[in-house]
Amino acid sequence: MKPEQLAGITKQLSDIKQRSPFYAKKFEGIDVAAIRTEEEFRSLPFTTKADLRDAYPLGLAAVPDERIVRIHSSSGTTGTPVIIPYTAADVHDWAVMFARCYEYAGITPKDRLQITPGYGLWTAGIGFQLGAELMGAMTIPMGPGNTDKQLRMMVDLQSTVICATSSYALLLAEQIQQRGLKDRIALRKGVIGSERWGSKMRDRIADELGVELYDIYGLTEIYGPGIGISCRYNEGMHCWDDYVYIEVVDPATGENVPDGEQGEIVLTAFRKEGAPLIRFRTHDLSRIIPGRCRCGSDMTRIDTIVGRTDDMFKVKGVNMFPAQVEEVIAQVDGASSEYQVVIEHAEGKDEMTVSFESPAAPQEFEAIENRMRALFKSRIGLTVIPQAVPMGVLPRSEKKSKRIHDRRFE
Ligand code: ZN
Repeated sequence: MKPEQLAGITKQLSDIKQRSPFYAKKFEGIDVAAIRTEEEFRSLPFTTKADLRDAYPLGLAAVPDERIVRIHSSSGTTGTPVIIPYTAADVHDWAVMFARCYEYAGITPKDRLQITPGYGLWTAGIGFQLGAELMGAMTIPMGPGNTDKQLRMMVDLQSTVICATSSYALLLAEQIQQRGLKDRIALRKGVIGSERWGSKMRDRIADELGVELYDIYGLTEIYGPGIGISCRYNEGMHCWDDYVYIEVVDPATGENVPDGEQGEIVLTAFRKEGAPLIRFRTHDLSRIIPGRCRCGSDMTRIDTIVGRTDDMFKVKGVNMFPAQVEEVIAQVDGASSEYQVVIEHAEGKDEMTVSFESPAAPQEFEAIENRMRALFKSRIGLTVIPQAVPMGVLPRSEKKSKRIHDRRFE
């Protein structure tokens, strides 16, 4: 923990129980105002998504109503949304962080940003928008969908930056290719947020659009997207640790793990006024990358998000995440980015079949399958049944977790 972070945290904690009825209850019996060390801080209970849902609608507010200027909402799969109130200072801080993301990506006031994530209760589009306006770039606030109009604006306004989810960026890239528009567009960078994606998909988008890509990190509960971004070296995402303190814990025990080790990301928004969050469990799995980045920035770096704690699955006693499976497949020569995994219980044991599309000739499939089997064994420690199929055979899905079909419990 950096000294400035400890100072920010102790300041946030000094009167949080007076400001926030939510934390008055959560920290009942704990003298949080007396906390002075990292160790003491790390003994505090976590804040969970369920706590936030229980506070619906405005139970997280830590300021009087007249200071709240906006709310955002994240929905869950379980029904009750989470509502996060923002003060004017929170909204400004978020824009400052997002503008910093653009700077790290080499985007300048001369750029024209086409913003395709959605606007509204979500924190997506509006975050991209305010950061760009604060920096002074021209924004084209498209929102999602209407591909014809997107492409028309991209050509006529000569957008230089595309802000999108990875799946929408891929769709646009394919359309640009199909319609032969590549020579008429001026894109030079892509800022991609909100989804986890593999390196093969990344390379494809970068190639087809002819742009440099940057990955944004963030979540609605902690401002929104834009609390971190990858830099030109693409070795993890720098997170703005002067606003947010990052811990990584073992998802099972809740104990902090050493830097470099994988676990669940836990975030503390120590400057937030409207809804400060202390030790919020994100369910995102990653690790802190130790050491200073080659770009010179000493902002804490986290690695690519490999999955969600809820996506983890276990085969023959081996725990794994969809992203790990994808990573192995990506490293096998002759395998494309499309794959499907089926886990079945047959003849008293679990079996995992990895089907993947291959652009190679069918007579080469066996050699590719052998490489796949060996790599799964050495990287994950599991023997799988590899199955190469021709290109275009597998069903398409945007979500990684949807490519894993666990039929053992059906
Ligand atoms: Zn860097």
